[in-house]
Order: sequence, then structure tokens, then C-alpha cells
Amino acid sequence: QHDVRAMSTFKYDKAYVNGKWIASKNNATFEVRNPATGEVIGSLPDMGHEETEQAVQAAYKAFYSWRNTTAKERSNFLRRWFNLQMENQTELAKLITLENGKPLADAAGEVAYGAGFCEWFSEEARRVYGETIPSPSPSKKIVVIKQPVGVAGMITPWNFPNAMITRKVAPALAAGCTVVLKPAEDTPYSALALCELAEQAGLPPGVFSVITSSRTNAAQVGKVLCEHPLVSKISFTGSTIVGKVLLKQAAKTVKRVSMELGGNAPFIVFESADLNKAVQGAVASKFRCSGQTCVCANRFFVHSTIYDKFVEALIDAIKKLKVGDGLEEGITQGPLINIRAVEKVETHISDAVCKGAHVVIGGRRHELGGAFFQPTVVTDVTKEMLCARQETFGPVASVIRFKTEEEVLALANMTSTGLAGYFYSNDISQIWRIAEKLEVGMVGINEGIISCVEAPFGGIKESGIGHEGSKYGIDEYLEVKYLCFGV
Ligand code: ADP
Repeated sequence: QHDVRAMSTFKYDKAYVNGKWIASKNNATFEVRNPATGEVIGSLPDMGHEETEQAVQAAYKAFYSWRNTTAKERSNFLRRWFNLQMENQTELAKLITLENGKPLADAAGEVAYGAGFCEWFSEEARRVYGETIPSPSPSKKIVVIKQPVGVAGMITPWNFPNAMITRKVAPALAAGCTVVLKPAEDTPYSALALCELAEQAGLPPGVFSVITSSRTNAAQVGKVLCEHPLVSKISFTGSTIVGKVLLKQAAKTVKRVSMELGGNAPFIVFESADLNKAVQGAVASKFRCSGQTCVCANRFFVHSTIYDKFVEALIDAIKKLKVGDGLEEGITQGPLINIRAVEKVETHISDAVCKGAHVVIGGRRHELGGAFFQPTVVTDVTKEMLCARQETFGPVASVIRFKTEEEVLALANMTSTGLAGYFYSNDISQIWRIAEKLEVGMVGINEGIISCVEAPFGGIKESGIGHEGSKYGIDEYLEVKYLCFGV
């Protein structure tokens, strides 16, 4: 009953390379499990460097015709792909829930968000404008054109199995690039479903290939993508630690890179904040996808005068969350992705407790067993604790007390990462000060949910390089070329 073939109209046991559904060279496979039940939902080809090489060659060949299609043709393709994704929203959402565990409603939201990038970049494809520049010399004219960078290698994570793919692939294809993508080993089915719909939308062979691999083979697939001379661009979303490995590898051939890496978002509640709004935002930001999004609030800083009230209201809100199998009605919290993730959460909680923090709700594995974990609030957290220094990536709100604006800014900015930051305040000058001084790429002001296709998503410091979505997203796949005309 939990077999992906029985659950879905999308039926896969092969990867998609150069317009064909193929097995791995040696017929090796790896298993994919449903994190809610632990059951195997299917097996896919465990590919390595040979198949990646084949996909890169095909993408390079396809680049020479894809780049010569008109912007309107690429736009039309992306629009058809978008339409098909929305027509199949329920099926795509079921696949996401099956392999990732998030509640079905969240999964359906992800499909709409993911498809939205295809719609957005079908529009942006037609607005890749060049420029003329006034020349310093009467005998020279200056013109700037934009061209696709070439073959883009992409590696994506499991927390948004669908949207992290379209957010990269749509701007790449819009720009005229071709793509070889390796999805996360936990969630490869969503990637293959997107291939099937792309094929239906009229995608030419080689323009978008998906190489599936186990965790063991991920490194060799990644190495080929990063070091291959025919690949011009690497785009990665995942952990900072893997991002640094890929950056090093990509340096050998001086590739263009886009990196969306880990965060450790501060969420600050100032004295003037609307407490109800702040709690609502806190729950939305922290507990969506069970705390497994890279923009998740990770450290809650609350002004000491409202600290107790905030914690009390947060506990009340958390009692309303419902943990369970994401396919069931009314569930708000699915399981974590795997036991490794559960163990990390446990380590963070026990470290905090050892150092003097208090668990005020949750704190343990959920009675449902497996990868389920109780939504948790830990109070009296200090900056020395693991849960404040690292991204917990689980349903744990760590709450820290502060007294002054200066103090909280220093605490918020003490990390090496800088993806998202949130704060609640009704003091207009303070809002401007904090928004400017937070060392992050994205700021939520009196708002806990900030991602949308129209806005630039990206981090600073060790959270990454470049932007996805928005009018800036397509630049990651374009080269600026300067033409000097002697007249
Ligand atoms: P997480 O810890 O959340 O799984 P990772 O950064 O480890 O995040 O994984 C994100 C993606 O990076 C996945 O597709 C994974 O297979 C891939 N990956 C992991 N290690 C490597 C590596 N050494 N080289 C290339 N890709 C890798």
C-alpha cells in the first residue's frame, strides 16, 4: 500500500538521462524509505561517475541547440511544464509526503511554490535585456549582451524535494542552459516526476537529466559535476559542510557557483512587539516541516520583560500541533527525515539541559516511534549551548533572554552563517536599525514566512553565494559579455 507505484500515477524504477529512462551501468540500486513508516517505497538506479559523464556529454551537446531556441520558445516550454505540475498537484504532493514525510497540505503548498518558479521564469525568460553604454571615445561603441553560461550541474536536498529543483532548473532553462541534476537520496522520486512532466511538456533530450544515486555514490557524482571541463556552473542547496567540499572541487576549473547553505536564523521579540503575532510567526517559522527548513528560526531571543509571557503563549500554541503520518487528515507535524536527524535533535537537547537549560514542553521522541519527535521548547538557553551555535534542523525552539538592543544584535550576529533573520517590534526607528544591522540575506519584520518566487532568496557569510527566484535568479545562469565596436 505504501509502494510508490501503488500510491501514484507516476511510476519509476529508472533515472532520466538524455531523454531516456535508464538503469545504472551495473544494475545497482538503492532503496528509498517513507520516514513516517520506515517502509521501503521503491528502489532506484545507484549511479556513479560513468552515468554522470554520459549525462554531461548529452547536456553539452543539447546546449548547442537549446541555447539557439528563442526566449519565447523556452518561455512556452516552462509555461507548459508549470501547467502540468499544477494539473498534477495532488499526485506530486503525495509523492513528496511519501518520501519526505511532510503533511500533505504542506506538500501541496510546496508543489504550488515549486511550479511557481516555472511560471515566473517563463515570464523572466523574455526579459533578459542587454545594454548600451556611453563610450569615452568617439570611435568606439560599447554594447553588453547576456548569454547562457552553458551546462549547469545541480545538487539538491530532501527538505523541499520538488521546489529546490524547480527554483534552480527553471531559471537555468529560461536562460538557455542545460542541466544535469542529482537529487537527494532520501527524495529522488519528486525529481523523476518532474522529468516525466517536462518530457510531456516537450523537453528535448539532454536538456534536463536526473542522475539518481545513494549517499555512498553522491560524492563521485558530485565530483564529476564539479570538476568536468564541460560543466560551466554548479548550483547547490544543502549543508555548509558539503557546500565547502563542492566549492573546493569547482575551483579547479573556476566554475560559476551558486550556494544555498545552512542558516541559524535569529528570531528576536522586542518589548514593543505584538505578542500574539510574534507567537504565530514563531510557530510558523520554527515548526513548518518539523523545523527542517534552512530559513527556520533556530534561536529565539526574547526581551526579559516579556520572556515568561512569550514562553507561556508559545507552549499553548504548540499544544495545538498534531504529530503523525503526513498522509492523514489534520496532521501538522510529520516525522523528521531519518533517525540521524532525530539523534542530532537529541544531542542538542541533552547538551542544553546539561548546561542549565530547561525543557518546558516535549523534549523526547514521539510515542509514534521511528523518526517522529515531540515539538519542543527549551528555555534559559545561552550562547554556549549547541542549539544556539548550530542549526538544530528539528522541532525545537530554543529561547534566550536578552535585555538590550546592542546585546541582542551581537548575539544574533555571532554565527558564521547569515541566511534569514526575523524580528518583531513596533518601534519604527528600531525596525530600520535592526533590519540594516542583522547580518543575513533575508529579514522577516513582524512576519515569520518570507519565501516567495518574486523575492530574492539567498544568504551571506557561510550561508551561501548568489540568489534564487526573483528577477535576480536568472543572472546566476547568464554571462555578461562586452562588445566593443570600432566605428
Ligand atoms: P543533509 O545533511 O541535509 O542531507 P547534505 O548537504 O548532506 O544535507 O545533502 C544535500 C545534497 O548533497 C544531497 O543531494 C546529498 O546527496 C548531496 N551530497 C552529500 N555529500 C556530498 C558530496 N560529498 N558530494 C556531492 N554531493 C553530496
